[in-house]
Parts: sequence; structure tokens; C-alpha cells
Amino acid sequence: VKYVYDFSEGHKDLKHLLGGKGANLAEMTRLGLPVPPGFTITTEACCAYLETGSEPPELRAEVSAHLDALERRMGKRLGEGDDPLLVSVRSGAKFSMPGMMDTVLNIGLSDTSVVALAAQAGDERFALDSYRRLIQMFGKTVLGVDGDLFEEAIDALKAEAGVTTDIELDADRLTVLVDRFKAIVREHAGREFPQDPREQMDLAIRAVFDSWNGDRARLYRRQERIPHDLGTAVNICSMVFGNLGPDSGTGVAFTRDPATGHQGVYGDYLQNAQGEDVVAGIRNTVPLAELERLDKASYDQLLSIMETLENHYRDLCDIEFTIERGTLWMLQTRVGKRTAAAAFRIATQLVDQGLIDEAEALRRVNGERLAQLMFPRFDPDAEVEHLASGLPASPGAAVGRVVFDSATAVERAATGEAVILVRRETNPDDLDGMIAAAGILTSRGGKTSHAAVVARGMGKTCVCGAEEIEVDTAARRLTVRRPGGEPVVITEGETISIDGSTGRVHRGEVPVVPSPVVEYFEGRVAPDDPGADDLVRAVGRIMGIADAARRLEVRANADTAADAARARRFGARGIGLCRTEHMFLGERRGLVEHLILAEGEEDRLRALDALLPLQRADFTELFEAMDGLPVTVRLLDPPLHEFLPDLTELSVRVALAERNGDHGALDEQDRRLLPAVRRLHEQNPMLGLRGVRLGLVIPGLFSMQVRAIAEAAADRRLAGGDPWVEIMIPLVGTVQELEIVREDAERIVADIERERGVELGLSLGTMIELPRAALTAGQIAECADFFSFGTNDLTQTVWGFSRDDVEASFFGAYLEKGIFGISPFETIDVDGVGALVRTAVRAGRAARPDLKLGVCGEHGGDPESVHFFHEVGLDYVSCSPFRVPVARLEAGRAVV
Ligand code: ADP
Ligand code: MG
Ligand code: MG
Repeated sequence: VKYVYDFSEGHKDLKHLLGGKGANLAEMTRLGLPVPPGFTITTEACCAYLETGSEPPELRAEVSAHLDALERRMGKRLGEGDDPLLVSVRSGAKFSMPGMMDTVLNIGLSDTSVVALAAQAGDERFALDSYRRLIQMFGKTVLGVDGDLFEEAIDALKAEAGVTTDIELDADRLTVLVDRFKAIVREHAGREFPQDPREQMDLAIRAVFDSWNGDRARLYRRQERIPHDLGTAVNICSMVFGNLGPDSGTGVAFTRDPATGHQGVYGDYLQNAQGEDVVAGIRNTVPLAELERLDKASYDQLLSIMETLENHYRDLCDIEFTIERGTLWMLQTRVGKRTAAAAFRIATQLVDQGLIDEAEALRRVNGERLAQLMFPRFDPDAEVEHLASGLPASPGAAVGRVVFDSATAVERAATGEAVILVRRETNPDDLDGMIAAAGILTSRGGKTSHAAVVARGMGKTCVCGAEEIEVDTAARRLTVRRPGGEPVVITEGETISIDGSTGRVHRGEVPVVPSPVVEYFEGRVAPDDPGADDLVRAVGRIMGIADAARRLEVRANADTAADAARARRFGARGIGLCRTEHMFLGERRGLVEHLILAEGEEDRLRALDALLPLQRADFTELFEAMDGLPVTVRLLDPPLHEFLPDLTELSVRVALAERNGDHGALDEQDRRLLPAVRRLHEQNPMLGLRGVRLGLVIPGLFSMQVRAIAEAAADRRLAGGDPWVEIMIPLVGTVQELEIVREDAERIVADIERERGVELGLSLGTMIELPRAALTAGQIAECADFFSFGTNDLTQTVWGFSRDDVEASFFGAYLEKGIFGISPFETIDVDGVGALVRTAVRAGRAARPDLKLGVCGEHGGDPESVHFFHEVGLDYVSCSPFRVPVARLEAGRAVV
């Protein structure tokens, strides 16, 4: 094996071997750009070292040979002679990784070579400054000395000298500093700072190797699912000096503005500085454009190099460069990070420039970035009164009056007021309020708390876990307590502004600017409008490319006509999940209670009869909004007690009323409900009486729903509409369940078709959300026209996780330990849950080739999951209306 590559031997596609930095240094060298000579030790050498605990024997010889060649080429010896060669030792893995070792500059300096360097440069101060930097970086990153000790020593010396910046420390002071640094190393590393240049280099190389297995690096890899056996490369690069006076300097540059994507000159430059001084913010940098005035020749050369690089990489590049006494050197380049808006603009610009094709443009953006562009934002120029900070749980900017309970939220929202629902934590009872509110703020709970998860699902702004806030629901006020400050009290009805993208909470109204991208999806702005933002043009163009490419159809999860209409504007081709339980909430609760408490057959039928017209009206509206497109209606799924009061609360109320001898109508109702609530109470409702089980044990319930659906479809058909209805049965575990429901449903539908003289063409299918259903999908398919994978419940049942319990309790710990990189409720667990999906798809299609397959869990709007669903061959994904564009984009990206 070859363990060492000269910069002139590699190229950009060798990242696995040379790391990102090394591969790009080699590429620039190949392009003939001015890169200081050097060589790269491969990731394979690192792996061999980590496996055996020592450098492979050939490595030392190869490094020596390359060092010799470098020395010959430069006409200098490492750390020796009148003009000593100095090098940097730079880590660089295939993926840039936090937790990897930092770079050490100026390797080769010692008590003797520093004198030579001073003489050679004619600048003693420069040489000493370089030396103290070496001891500092080497001490910190190679010898593991606490970096603060060095910083404190600099501060102390500056104070003694009565100066404020390090540039003002003269040679004499720096001599003192070097001595102090060496003493720090001696004391805290238990050894002298090594004076032998080769020993410095070898120790630095080994430290880079070791850093691959540092705790932070390992954790990062576990979370990101980066294999542990890739290893890191090490770059040895001859030093160039930006700290040689005013005609020297160092800088960073971007070939386009990484914030907006617009073309121009972007970057920062710092005169008379080395290495990381630019980003460290020690001194004030100047805009790159200033370099034209300072050193026109270098500036022109840099601009021309940037053009070369951009054309070569066909993308925005970021660059590190140094100017040494008027000579420009390139120290790094890579395809640069950018904001979401820049990503979309640049992708389309590059298509226009003919540098990339449309498929490549799709690869350059992604759904997550599109989602970022869809949230409204607070006006960045607005003045704010900061109140508190929490976790950015669900992005967006929301302004509204504070309310403290769900009922008030619904009430006030109904009058057109924007409200922010403020709770300690939310629970399923808050759902109405969360739907009504413009935003949600909680004082407790993490990013996987109920509030966070539900809000994200709804695309609603949410800040959670704002711990400085104390919520007093009874007193209808919140108090913000900050250490050292006066408490601030906000009472119900006062206006606050919450930023779900940053977690910040402000007092009063902060102006919001709508997302131009949403304006576009809503059809309020067209890409070719003269005043349209060029971002809208870029997004519109990319969406067109994605729609043309994708095979997956995208539907929306929507329960109301309003949601359906919005989803349609956003590009949904149907509804993949209409949850009928939302139709049982609000003022209809009474009817549901009646149903549950019904005494005898007749009473129950009366209750169902009362519900029927309400359901029918809901469906009629929905089918109208989705006219001509499929609408999948799921029959009632949640356990009935979700529609009843909580057992504990009710028991307490009844007990109190009894003690006080109250006999009001409300108390009477409570007393009547209590036995039913007790009867329906379940230890484990997720696995209890719900879904198809309800339909089988509560006579008439599913029949009523089927009737309402079929009648609504008939009404629409007779009114000249084109309803396309799919009835979906939840929580089926075995084909027998489905058979019973199906027989019943077919009879009802046939009756209605006969009565009304129409053909409805309804289809009936099932959710696949239990492992048993997935495993017996072949049998179930015999009785189903379609499958819709309910990946939320499937994830719960495959993992044995009760979502409401585990997300808030231990997912945080699992994420921290790297057991998940991301919650399996957010991105589908391909190996486990995905395997069952695969099995069911195969068996279902084998039994019934025309079986329609979709997914309606939240995963339907998750980018990575969409790629999986494409790959296993589903027909469609269904997601919340707001995620529809994201799913469209990702479905297109899954193809290219
Ligand atoms: P990072 O990955 O943190 O950017 P680098 O290896 O790029 O680390 O180095 C850190 C800083 O030192 C950068 O500003 C880089 O330009 C500078 N640097 C690295 N090697 C040299 C060198 N041989 N001569 C001059 N400056 C260097
Ligand atoms: Mg760098
Ligand atoms: Mg379910």
C-alpha cells in the first residue's frame, strides 16, 4: 500500500483516501493554482495505526521520503539551517467532523530555528509570534494542555505591557511569552516542549490519528451514522506567512454570497495575520473588496482563481488564502455551505450558466431547506423586547395574545383574534387550542415533548421548554424570572411574539414578513410577476423539475375542506388520510357521550342517527374540495375514552360534589358519566379498544360512518361532482377483521347506490400499522383494495414504544448516546420498520398486483423517508398540507 501522496499526486475524487481537505488541495495543485507544496497521509494509514496501536513500519519511511522531496524542492530543511522549513499539520476526514483535532501551524520552530527565521525574515517579532503560536497550538491540541492557560498568559502580559491587542506586543515581550508558554507546557503536560522538528511533526500526526477516536468525534459519527472505520487523513503543508507585515495577510472568500446566492465579491481579509485570526475575530477584518486597494495584483489573481474554481467544481466554493509579501497562496477550498435561499438560487443560476443540468440542480437542494423557506419570519430590522428563550421546537414566527387554556384559545380565535397558547406542557386535551392558536409556548419539555411533536406535525410555530417562564394558569398570568433581574409579569390578553426558528420570545408585537415561497405556493405570486423575488423564480423552477421527474404521487392528510383546499393549492393530488375523529370533537362531544352512555339498542341508534347528518355534511364539503381526486377516509380510530373526561379528574369532581351535597345538572352529568369512564378506562389505550376493534364491538358505529360517506358521495355525484372515495379501516391485525367490516360496508353502499340510482365506485382498504398485518399482508390483500402504511403506529408497535411516553422521557438520552441520530418517529427506521413495510409491499402485490400502496404516517413528509418509500415502490405518500411541497421535491430527488 501507498500511505503518502504528494499534493501533485491526488485529486478531488479521492476524499475517502485523502480526506476532503487533502483531496481538494491536490485538485488545486493539479489545476496549477499556487498551493504551498506538501503531502497527505492517507486515511488507510490512520486505520492501520488505530488497529494496531502503532504507525505501520512503512509509514515512517514514506513520510521521510516525502519530507526529503519537499525539503529538496523548497531548498530548506525542516526546522534547520539559515532558512528553516516550517509546515502545518492539518487533519481532514472524508466528512468534516466536529471533535477532530485542530490544525497545528509553524511546526519546525524551536529555540534555535526561531533565531534563524528572525534573521531570514528580517523580523524578530514575526518569528517569536510564530513560535509562541506553535507552542500554544501544540500544547493544546497535541499535548492536551488546557487552552485557557495560554490565553490567560497572553492577557496577563498585555496587562503588564499596558496594551490591548497582541499585535502591540513587541519582540521583548514575546520572548517573555514564549518562556511562559514553555513553562505552562512543562507544568501541565509533564514534559518539555519538544525541540526536535521531526518529533514535533510525528507527535502532531499521531495526535490527528488519535483524535479520530475522541469522544466527541465518536458520538458525532454514531448520530450521523458515519462508519467508525473511515479514519482521517493528515496533511503536511509547507508554511506561508501572512504575518510578515502590512504587505501580508490572510483571508477567506466565497465565489458567491453564501447568504443569498447572489454573485459578487464576498469574503474577509486581515492584514498582517496568520491562520485563524480571521475567523477568531481578534482584530477587525476588512471586506474582501478592500484588497483591491491594498494589493491589486493579488486581488485580481484571487478573483480569477475563484472563477476557475467555481467553473471547475460547478458550485459555490469557499476558499482560504494567505498573501505572503505580495505573493498569493491558496490554502483550502471546498464546496461551500450556504443558506436555503442561496441553495435554490445558486442551483438555478448554475443551470442557466450551463454548468449543471436540471437533475443536478435537484440534487443541490432538498426538502428540509425548502421547508425552511416556507416559514414566516420576524422582520430582522425590528426592535424587540426580549422576554425569554426556549427551544426552537417548530419554526416560524407567531404573534398573538396570550391565553392559558385550550377553551379560551378556541373562543378568542373564533372572534378572529390571533392567540398564543401558553402552557406548562400540553397534552391531547389541548389539541383544539393548539389548532386554534397562532403559536404555542411551553415552559417545560424538550424538542420531543407533546407540544413540539404535535406543533411540528401541524406546521405550527412552537417554542418549548422556556424555563425562565413560570406559567400560572389559575391566575391567568406568566412570570419571567431571570437571574439578577426584576420578574416580568404578562397577563392573559397581552401580546407576545414567539420565534420557533430561534426559540426566542419577545414582549409585544414584532412585525412578521410572510414567506415569499408560501405566497407562491398559495398562488398569490407567480414566478414571472415582474416584482417577484428571484427566490420565487428559483423555487418555482426547481419544483417544476421535481414534478416532472417524480414517480411518487403526493397526497395530504386533511380533515377539513379548508385544509383540503390548501393542500390542493400546494400540489397535493388527493387526501391520503382524513381522520374522522376530529369530527367528533367540540360541540359534538355531547353526541358522542350520548352514544357511549346509550342504554339499549334503540338509544344507541338514536345517538348514531344524530351524528350521521353532521358527518355527512363534513364529507360532502371535503369531497367537493377534492373533486376529481382520491380521498381516503379513515373510520374512527381512537379509543372512545378520549372523548370522555379524564378518569381521575372526574372521580375527584364527583367525590367533591358528593361531599358538598351539590346536586346541579353538571354534577348529575358527571355522576352519570363516571361508571362509563371507569368501564372504558384502559391501562394501555394504545393497545386497547380502538380502530377496527371499535367497529366490531360497537354495533352500528362503522355502519353509520360508511353510510355518511356513501351518502355524501352520492350527493356529490348527483350534484354533478366527481367524488373519488376510499374507505380505510384502521388497526387491522388479521384479515378476518377486515372481512366482517367489508361485508357490512358493501351491503350499505349497495343499498345506497340502489336507493339513489348512482354508482359510487368506492374502494375499501386497510391501514398496515401492526406487525401482524405486515406479516400477513398477503392474506389481508385478498380483502383490501389498498394498503396505507400507518408508520406512526407501526413504529410504536415494532419498537414497543408508546410515543407519548417515550419521546418525553428517554429519547433525549437515546439521542445523546447516539443510539438514534434522529427519532424513528421523524425518519423511518429503515432496518426495522422499513423491513416490515418491504415485506408487506411484496406480499401484498404478489397477492394482488393492482393493490394501491401509500403511506399516511408523519414520515410521508420526511425527506429521507420519502426516498425510502420511493425505493420500495409505493404509489404515493401523504403528509400534512404544509409538507406537500417538501414531499414533491423529495419524490423528485428520489429519482435523480
Ligand atoms: P480548519 O479545518 O479548521 O480550517 P486548517 O487546516 O484549514 O483548519 O487550518 C487552520 C488555519 O490555518 C486556516 O486559516 C488555514 O488557512 C491556516 N493554515 C493551514 N496551513 C497553513 C500553511 N501551511 N500556511 C499558512 N497558513 C496555514
Ligand atoms: Mg481551513
Ligand atoms: Mg394509527
